[in-house]
Amino acid sequence: MKQHNEVPYKIYLTEEEMPKAWYNVRADMKNKPAPLLNPGTLQPMGFEDLRPVFCDELIRQELDNETPYIEIPEPIRDFYKMYRPSPLVRAYFLEEKLGTPAKIYYKFEGNNTSGSHKLNSAIAQAYYAKQQGLKGVTTETGAGQWGTALSMACSFFDLDCQVYMVKVSYEQKPFRREVMRTYGASVTPSPSNTTNVGRRILEAHPGTTGSLGCAISEAVEAATSQEGYRYVLGSVLNQVLLHQSIIGLETKAALDKYGIKPDIIIGCAGGGSNLGGLISPFMGEKLRGEQDYRIIAVEPASCPSFTRGQYRYDFCDTGMVCPLAKMYTLGSDFIPSPNHAGGLRYHGMSSILSQLYYDGYMEATSVEQTSVFEAAELFARCEGTLPAPESSHAIRVAIDEALKCKETGEEKTIVFGLTGTGYFDLVAYEKYNNGEMSDYIPTDEELRRSLDKTPKFPGCGV
Ligand SMILES: *Cc1c(COP(=O)(O)O)cnc(C)c1O
Repeated sequence: MKQHNEVPYKIYLTEEEMPKAWYNVRADMKNKPAPLLNPGTLQPMGFEDLRPVFCDELIRQELDNETPYIEIPEPIRDFYKMYRPSPLVRAYFLEEKLGTPAKIYYKFEGNNTSGSHKLNSAIAQAYYAKQQGLKGVTTETGAGQWGTALSMACSFFDLDCQVYMVKVSYEQKPFRREVMRTYGASVTPSPSNTTNVGRRILEAHPGTTGSLGCAISEAVEAATSQEGYRYVLGSVLNQVLLHQSIIGLETKAALDKYGIKPDIIIGCAGGGSNLGGLISPFMGEKLRGEQDYRIIAVEPASCPSFTRGQYRYDFCDTGMVCPLAKMYTLGSDFIPSPNHAGGLRYHGMSSILSQLYYDGYMEATSVEQTSVFEAAELFARCEGTLPAPESSHAIRVAIDEALKCKETGEEKTIVFGLTGTGYFDLVAYEKYNNGEMSDYIPTDEELRRSLDKTPKFPGCGV
């Protein structure tokens, strides 16, 4: 039996100990992430180029590769206090079940109505939109976590919130839709006839159930065609990783309280925002040569951007209206098979994490859906919390690393991000419980076909 009193089961910070500034890991990167390019001119996009689409202060944060700490405005800090600090939990029961000498900790971000870490950036983005005097914001949502978080943030600051929700999710996830509407958002199934791009797609593909890429294109058009509106995005962008650094700063402060240094830090990777946020302060130490950590990104085998993608410039959306970003990508044309970790089905990856991975500062691995749900089930039964399928990718690899420690007898300290809860993912759990879950892994040929369609120009990366 392990003693359960080495550290408290939950390590909390007091309000006083909560971070007062976000940490911008780009400041410590020697090789900065590549700039966004204008798809027409192939020139780096500056402040003025981005202004029609994004909020001014958020563009400044997006382009700022130098300032290490950016103060969190007080209204955002006050909002954070309603659901933060989030607990850092020692997984004593999971360790015991696995019989591992490893020490496992997880940072739990599911303690708010949106059920995920996405609220950390949503509230910041809504705040800056309000500061600028805008009427509202537009966005897209796939599985629905981002749309939910943004609708909460917008209602708090009394901003209009227009969400384009991929039609298949709109129809199959009515509960998320109703949470958004309860917070006052208007939710439109995409493709819709409210935009030119939506009408064009509907004409070309009558009966289509939509895609994330199409919903992005509609949301961008809606923002640029209405006076007083801007477009906001819940992952991938530098500004989002900056806001999410609150996760890593709190984690580090809690570990430091007990003099604990992690050996391995693990997070799931969709567009990279939770992983980037969790690892930022640790990566900073690594980049400055002060400490070393093993950092592992976990992605679905069905959508393997890091492990099988190319590091190159590509479109961020299927409609090709957004800027070009240099990132690990499977091609903006890539449609992942309908796996159940909706939040991890993005063809690209954060430019910051892409550069760090390319430079060898972190590892990546991919896992298959059934083994992810096995890990989710074990975790739920030991630790109580029903994890989101996305988060369960990190659980899978944390368990695998803990089992390796059992073999070698090493007492490693493992920290992973538990990004959210799985209450809206019960159709996926039902499939798993019925033994009907399958794993689809794209063939090399399929990946080659979508990568072949990425834009080619001198300096595109490959
Ligand atoms: C959106 C989401 C993710 C993936 O997004 P990242 O930007 O890669 O963090 C992971 N977990 C949950 C619960 C999500 O909602």
